[in-house]
Amino acid sequence: ASVFSVVQPGPPIEAFALNKECVDDPFEKKVNLIIGAYRTEESQPWVLPVVRKTEIMLANNEKTNHEYLPILGSAPFSTAATAMLLGKDSKALKEKRAFGVQTLSGTGALSVGSRFLVQHLGAKHFYYSDPTWENHRLVFQHAGFEKGFAYRYWHAGKRGIDMEGLLEDLSKAEPNSVIILHSCAHNPTGCDPTLEQWVQIAAVMKEKKLFPFFDSAYQGFASGDLDEDAKAVRYFIDQGFELLCAQSFAKNFGLYSQRVGNLTFVTNDPSTIPSVLSQVTIIVRGLYSNPPSHGSSIVSTVLNDPELFQEWQGCIKTMSDRIKKMRAGLKERLVKLQTPGSWEHITSQIGMFSYTGLTPAQVQYLKTKHHVYALKSGRINMAAVTTKNLDYVASSIHDAVV
Ligand code: PLP
Repeated sequence: ASVFSVVQPGPPIEAFALNKECVDDPFEKKVNLIIGAYRTEESQPWVLPVVRKTEIMLANNEKTNHEYLPILGSAPFSTAATAMLLGKDSKALKEKRAFGVQTLSGTGALSVGSRFLVQHLGAKHFYYSDPTWENHRLVFQHAGFEKGFAYRYWHAGKRGIDMEGLLEDLSKAEPNSVIILHSCAHNPTGCDPTLEQWVQIAAVMKEKKLFPFFDSAYQGFASGDLDEDAKAVRYFIDQGFELLCAQSFAKNFGLYSQRVGNLTFVTNDPSTIPSVLSQVTIIVRGLYSNPPSHGSSIVSTVLNDPELFQEWQGCIKTMSDRIKKMRAGLKERLVKLQTPGSWEHITSQIGMFSYTGLTPAQVQYLKTKHHVYALKSGRINMAAVTTKNLDYVASSIHDAVV
């Protein structure tokens, strides 16, 4: 007998369960398009050369130690991370009404931020795009929100954004609802609003007094340009919004396991900052006490050194360019094979993922017949496509569709 015998098994987390299946699959030509992590042409994880170099430098520095970081993390790190998000010329930064705190990657920033909104701003409802990164709901539910709602986002027919539906759903939200917005490279659809569409979204949110919580998991990684990928957040700030933004350095630095994140706050009144910081301190203290330092010291060193920073920008360009090439290559092959349907969206979508439009049955067929693994939703990780598996992926998709 065990006290644990009352525990019922929970549902598996699709991406990780499927990933295990793929890892265990002995088929030589199998292709893993599941987990959102960058792969090289050799299908290997990539330690960015600038990261390797900085790690060695830090390891050889006798001053490097393993003392606790402050509860809110490394100040040089969070200052640089916030500046990267808001831009050097940010008015909010100049007016000293924006600040960041170090968190456990993007997920940790979302967790701390969502708890703060519930505990201190009385937030009750949150809205997430339909579809969204599958963890948004779990994180916000755990924070204690009373209810989560989906707002329309993906229009299957158009293979693009359902702007009308989105605006209608947001216009019906209660004031003070928290709206989760992907700042760029929407996961899973790869479809971002245009600037004109962001203008419309901001207008509805302002009118209805909705609170923006941006999720920035792919800055620089999406377009190859840090400013371009931050334009939505910056536009909202220019429009006078107070907001939160969760930043992840998992993808753009290839530091997935190091859990490097930042939670940026933008307020209209700098005198609110000490109280906010003290309450965030208590939230973090009760959750995990202090963040880890290895990853954040790498990011901080790179962001604060002009030469390393430039080198890093080259690395993000390498990653985003390779992904763009693979998008073009996949579309070209599908068109050549005359695979039924339009494949324009493969190249018009941006970031790590493509929302292929494949049905769950086609995805299942891809796996059982060809050992090509994708999420049930049809999402594939474009960063795992290489010149070596491109033909195989394309012909497998073709076979699944016809
Ligand atoms: N938000 C989005 C949209 C993501 O796609 C991811 C990772 O895939 C995250 C947040 C969080 O990632 P992490 O906690 O690894 O930084």
